[in-house]
Amino acid sequence: MERELVVYNSLSGKKEPFVPLLQDHVGMYVCGPTVYSNVHLGNCRTFISFDLIFRYLQHIGYKVRYVRNITDAGHLENDADEGEDRIAKKARLESIEPMEVVQRYTVDFRETMAKFNALPPSIEPTATGHIVEQIELIKQILEQGYAYEVNGSVYFDVLRFNKDIPYGKLSGRNIEELIHNSRALDGQSDKRNPQDFALWKKAEPQHIMRWPSPWSDGFPGWHLECTAMSTKYLGTQFDIHGGGMDLKFPHHECEIAQAESVYKKSPVNYWLHANMLTLNGKKMAKSTGNNILPNEMFSGKNEIFHKSFSPMVARFFMLQAHYRSIVDLSETALVASEKGFYRLVEGIQKIEQLEISESTSEFDLKSWQNKCYAAMNDDFNSPVLIAHLFDAVKFINAVDNGLQTVNSTDRDQLLKLMHGFFNDVLGLLTPEMNEKRQESSQLEGSLQLLMELRDKARANKDFETSDLIRDGLQKIKIQINDTAAGTTFKIN
Ligand code: AMP
Ligand code: ZN
Repeated sequence: MERELVVYNSLSGKKEPFVPLLQDHVGMYVCGPTVYSNVHLGNCRTFISFDLIFRYLQHIGYKVRYVRNITDAGHLENDADEGEDRIAKKARLESIEPMEVVQRYTVDFRETMAKFNALPPSIEPTATGHIVEQIELIKQILEQGYAYEVNGSVYFDVLRFNKDIPYGKLSGRNIEELIHNSRALDGQSDKRNPQDFALWKKAEPQHIMRWPSPWSDGFPGWHLECTAMSTKYLGTQFDIHGGGMDLKFPHHECEIAQAESVYKKSPVNYWLHANMLTLNGKKMAKSTGNNILPNEMFSGKNEIFHKSFSPMVARFFMLQAHYRSIVDLSETALVASEKGFYRLVEGIQKIEQLEISESTSEFDLKSWQNKCYAAMNDDFNSPVLIAHLFDAVKFINAVDNGLQTVNSTDRDQLLKLMHGFFNDVLGLLTPEMNEKRQESSQLEGSLQLLMELRDKARANKDFETSDLIRDGLQKIKIQINDTAAGTTFKIN
């Protein structure tokens, strides 16, 4: 039952049984953020959608290698390969080093995702850390004859590629249509055809992010990093590639072309796309200003809502919609989700205190459990799962009010299952769990600091201090170990 997963594949345009390449292992690549500004709630929705997918795959027993990149170079202001690199532009405007921009917004992204209780990916590679791999990939594409160099820049030749391998499979756009809809080149461009896209761009003298290459001092095109990094960490063919719906074209289409031009096979078996979060009916976007930042929502300091909403309420709100539906952010909808979230939390909290009865329960737990899995197995249908959780809450309240009965086995099983779906699968935390999580991360942080102080004391041969830390911690049952890499701790 748990493994009868069916997913909607954007490539075929239909739902397909999910069969990984390697029986129990799943390779999943999700396009990460471009770190030139804070992530907005729209971006968060996409990453929360894939967190749900990551969690569910693990929940049903797969070992998942989840790779989510950080775009810290190469994403130009517009998709026609014109304009400045977004990060370099921000660095120029603020007179700081591009890597300071990258650091600031990468940290913001990680902190935000942690607030939403999203699990960190298994590997989080950066574009700037994989320039060598990207240059190698360009060389291979050139060798295959699907790219050309002009004035130190290298472009992918879409028409040439399309002669051998069809271009446009994912987005359903055929080449004639593309030619018809493309803006003519303005004479300034080095491209042969407007459909072509940059693999390498020669840097203008004022461009600060640049690397040496066989063609020029320059920087890679945005689409290239994902092909280079997904291949490096997941192989030339892997199970799942995801991202927001708006990345389908041109980004993912270009990824397919790059990979197929070299490896001659379809790089990804299942293309999954999460739909957009809108605000006032319009797509939330960094560039248009139609957006709200997570912290503005959590603090209530924004012009859009009259009150604040917690990260868990926002997460619950997003999961109440299927990941492939558009969701509009509104105060009315958030208030309704907040009520629902707390009704669910209260239901879960009541389970342990329910009075048990010897008679059989008036709730078919097994069939309820099957319905919950059936929902998630149907292309990760979290809204239907949540509706089933509310059915269980109705039953819990009925038992609490003496209207129905539950036996002890069912009560324990219900508690376990509710926690499984609520925490593990949906990634939700009750306020108590959130508090505990915060406390434990504070404890961990404090201990880490003590380890650093002890390493420093030992390096200075101040053994009195280092022993004081070790003995003091031992007294409160925290074991410490000296390793070549420094001191580590274990809470007994
Ligand atoms: P970016 O940092 O702009 O490259 O976007 C990071 C991720 O957020 C991509 O997967 C986008 O598709 C996704 N995204 C951007 N805007 C929205 C939105 N309004 N709703 C949902 N996802 C979005
Ligand atoms: Zn990507």
